[in-house]
Amino acid sequence: MRHQIVSDDLRAPEMAEAVEKCVHCGFCLAACPTYNLLGEEMDSPRGRIYLMKNVLEENLPAVEAQPYIDRCLGCMACVPACPSGVEYGDLLVGYRALQEKERQRPPLDALTRKLICETLPYPRRFRLAALTGKLGQALLPALPDAFATMLSLLPDSLPPARPLPPVLPAQGERRGKVALLLGCAQQVLAPEISQAAAQVLARNGVEVHIPREQGCCGSILLHVGEEKRARDIARRNFDCIPEDVDAIITTAAGCGSGMKDYELLFKGQTDAARAAAFSKKVMDFSAYLAGIGLRAMTGFPGERRVVYQDACHLLHAQGCASEPRALLAGIPNLRMLEIADAGMCCGSAGTYNIDQPEIAAELARRKVKSILAVEPDLVVSGNIGCITQLRGELARQNQTLPIRHIAEVLREAAPN
Ligand code: SF4
Ligand code: SF4
Repeated sequence: MRHQIVSDDLRAPEMAEAVEKCVHCGFCLAACPTYNLLGEEMDSPRGRIYLMKNVLEENLPAVEAQPYIDRCLGCMACVPACPSGVEYGDLLVGYRALQEKERQRPPLDALTRKLICETLPYPRRFRLAALTGKLGQALLPALPDAFATMLSLLPDSLPPARPLPPVLPAQGERRGKVALLLGCAQQVLAPEISQAAAQVLARNGVEVHIPREQGCCGSILLHVGEEKRARDIARRNFDCIPEDVDAIITTAAGCGSGMKDYELLFKGQTDAARAAAFSKKVMDFSAYLAGIGLRAMTGFPGERRVVYQDACHLLHAQGCASEPRALLAGIPNLRMLEIADAGMCCGSAGTYNIDQPEIAAELARRKVKSILAVEPDLVVSGNIGCITQLRGELARQNQTLPIRHIAEVLREAAPN
């Protein structure tokens, strides 16, 4: 698409390149969850590119494009679907960061975002907020929508913390050395995931470093357009992760894809080179393990029918689909099942289920319908966001189908 984008933003060249490459062919439309759901051109990747181009050219007031851009999940399903190689994420993330600087949000919306930014990236604050929030659930009917949705996502109780040692030694012959990132919300909502990941890595001959000083990767802040804060918070990890690790392991899809994009986030900043070096080492837990190969597993006593739920930021943003499936398929007595529309987002998408609760709920309903259609015994995912979203929807439908992180399943399949 020809354009006349005028912006002195450091990322304007990447944004302009995405617009330039789009030839308006529409191949991306079928992959887009919001287009599927709403059937509106402006709720498709092609429509959103056109809107963002016009705002950046100063031909359209940003406020007119805003509802359509806000409804974008940032799931990146449109990226692999595009034959022209449009890097939609470069455009969307840069655009959102630019707009956030000028956007006037209604007071309640601004307060909700402030609460998210001040709590989610900080495990201690988030734990306190979650506990306080549970008390506030009695007031749900009287609360404004955004608050009520936020509180309704909290679990009935929080699991106890599972502190890990700074180093977990490799068992048997040493095959690698990694750093493990614990995630921020995940540490509070499901600390057993990092514990399982560390144990599985160690059992497979990997020395696991878990620096106590580590913090949030900044992805959640980036997702809501707070890029300066995202950079500030991410810098903590550059200092505390040992430089000689083979990989920096994440167990949450959004964290992984966010950190792989550090090069763009830190473009023109003093830490750009460090950020790029850090970014290159980031790997998802399942991709790393598939690379080194798992040691023998005992498996399960009887057959288990398993659906692997693809997280968008693993499947579309990191191209990680075959690796977790290969790990699971290697477990004795485990039978893999595939579902319809496996690449469609479940509606979790960072803070999307707080910002756009109706669309998020409908996507969750559709995903659960596809899963139940193949009658599994277990659902496995590589992302706490998908797990929380689908667990909530399964509970709403009175389904007892368990959903677990791949690290927990691999640990169960090969106990020490
Ligand atoms: S598939 Fe790619 S080139 Fe075609 S409309 Fe979508 S983004 Fe543009
Ligand atoms: S990121 Fe997802 S929701 Fe947004 S335009 Fe692309 S496919 Fe659609």
